[in-house]
Amino acid sequence: MSTETIEFQAEARQLLQLMIHSIYSTKDVFLRELISNSSDALDKLRLAAYRDKDLEVDTSDLHIALEIDSDARTVTVRDNGIGMSRDEVVDLIGTIAKSGTAEMLAQLRQARETGGSSEEATAELIGQFGVGFYSSFMVADRVELVTRKAGSHTGVRWESTGDATYTVAEAPDAPQGTAVTLHLKPEDADDALHDFANEATVRATVKRYSDFITWPIRMAPASGEGEPETVNSRKALWARAQKDVSDEEYAEFYRHVSHDWREPLETIRLAAEGTFEYQALLFLPSHAPMDLFWRDAKRGVQLYVKRVFIMDDCEALVPEYLRFVKGVVDASDLSLNISREILQQDRQIQLIRKRLVRKVLSTVKTMQEKEPEKYATFWSELGRAVKEGLLSDHENQKAILDICSFSSTHDPEKSTTLRDYLARMPEGQDSIYYATGDSRAALERSPHMEAFRAKGYEVLLLTDPVDEVWVGAVPSFEEKPLASIAAGEVDLGGDEVDDDTKKGFDTLLTWMASALADDVKEVRLSHRLTESAAVLVGDPGDLTPTLEKMYRAMGQEPPTVKRILELNPRHALVTSLRDAHDKRPDDPGLGDTARLLHGMALLAEGGELADPAAFVALLSRQLEKSLG
Ligand code: ADP
Ligand code: MG
Repeated sequence: MSTETIEFQAEARQLLQLMIHSIYSTKDVFLRELISNSSDALDKLRLAAYRDKDLEVDTSDLHIALEIDSDARTVTVRDNGIGMSRDEVVDLIGTIAKSGTAEMLAQLRQARETGGSSEEATAELIGQFGVGFYSSFMVADRVELVTRKAGSHTGVRWESTGDATYTVAEAPDAPQGTAVTLHLKPEDADDALHDFANEATVRATVKRYSDFITWPIRMAPASGEGEPETVNSRKALWARAQKDVSDEEYAEFYRHVSHDWREPLETIRLAAEGTFEYQALLFLPSHAPMDLFWRDAKRGVQLYVKRVFIMDDCEALVPEYLRFVKGVVDASDLSLNISREILQQDRQIQLIRKRLVRKVLSTVKTMQEKEPEKYATFWSELGRAVKEGLLSDHENQKAILDICSFSSTHDPEKSTTLRDYLARMPEGQDSIYYATGDSRAALERSPHMEAFRAKGYEVLLLTDPVDEVWVGAVPSFEEKPLASIAAGEVDLGGDEVDDDTKKGFDTLLTWMASALADDVKEVRLSHRLTESAAVLVGDPGDLTPTLEKMYRAMGQEPPTVKRILELNPRHALVTSLRDAHDKRPDDPGLGDTARLLHGMALLAEGGELADPAAFVALLSRQLEKSLG
């Protein structure tokens, strides 16, 4: 194989440009990224050698070596791990396989175009995405990578200046593993903090970002004399006593496992002893991960068996609604050979998962009680995901409800827990009332709200798409039923409409029901209106208008559901219509009025008219009549 010049994939090229021109203040993260890749490569080799006894590899001294040449101004990060084949180099280094790359780049481009992209915002996006190998180009103007795949006899040399192309060539004498050599940018030479040709800078950076890496990270003294020295302390954080680990160490470890560059919001430790031992170190992020609502989002924590890395993103340990939880579980009694499929059914894994879930939920609960601001951050960032658990995790439904908070009519500034809602409930109120819809403003103005406002009953305002769904799965909280203000009959015990009045409406209701039969399934008198003439309601369990919209947004035609039109018997428009119908039951104008009433009710709740043009024609006809 002679030297080949290959173009980077378009997305990779864009990401590289970002790296080269970034004035990212924390350039030193490149070292963390390279060490983290080396550490992964060593983990993989150990596992591969364990699973395949015939693999021709040397596992006797697995380690990472850092080599500095201050004259040539190079830094090399070397490992004797799994290595890469030629095709792997092209696939893994020449392209970005990470899901969401296109989305991230599009977001960046958009931020640029709208002029809103500060350097900080760019850094934030890149940081969330996880910068990876390409971060080398923040400090280097040329990068060489020499690698030999475990079990293979020849190696590959890859080289690039980060422009549009890279080269690959055969490297016959390459040692097993991977060495990445950075030719440092000359302009950083005078900047002591960012000069990575300086031993002290490199040493401090390793200490800072990579101390917990369990493989030895060795550095030869710059003098060239004396034995290489191991720079990191190599202790698995989860195996150390909690009090011996500093917040900084936890934060760095969090960055390592999460690819988030911020501090974790909360650190959770968990251990079990006895017949089935395990330790867990988990983190809650302070921001919703970028992929929280992407369909192919990764989830799960890292799984170790007795300090040996087994896999990333172990889904079996974390339910989907807690997909933002990051960290490590180290179990003692599992086989190193365990596969993802078997894990899903493993009883011990299921037990660990059960405990992890309970522990996460109780941690949030404690946060809510003791650190309300932190809890508020958690909830505003991640609550939308947590609420999915109300549907999927029946066993913990109550515990999840307990940590939920919702907007409510009680205080426009603050959300409320269900418990606080119950505590405020006046004598005589027997349900927890909620409204679902697109926005708080629309819900507050909705006619459904009138009777509740008049009565002084608090209503929860649920505006997340997931709210539409879980309310159907949660019948009650602390034995108080949850009830939609837009479904079913409402009787808040207000002024009763007496029987005579009711009778007076009988013929009107019957006639209207047939006049509007295409649109509604019933017309009846309402107990929930004080100001509006009419309102549309559903039967409990009916598809709500927002759900219908969601179906359409997903490209599905929802089942047609006719709703119920309720009339306010005290409203002048309704009483006049009744009187007019009593006098001239055959007047064709009455039908128009009925259709207008129906359309108005639909508009008032923020709904969409099936035929807006017809509605406008109807309205203008009525207006003309009233003027003439
Ligand atoms: P990530 O580590 O998040 O996958 P990177 O950009 O850091 O992204 O690395 C891309 C891929 O290149 C890695 O997933 C790995 O497969 C491969 N790789 C990088 N460095 C090494 C290394 N030192 N040894 C073996 N493979 C490596
Ligand atoms: Mg990496």
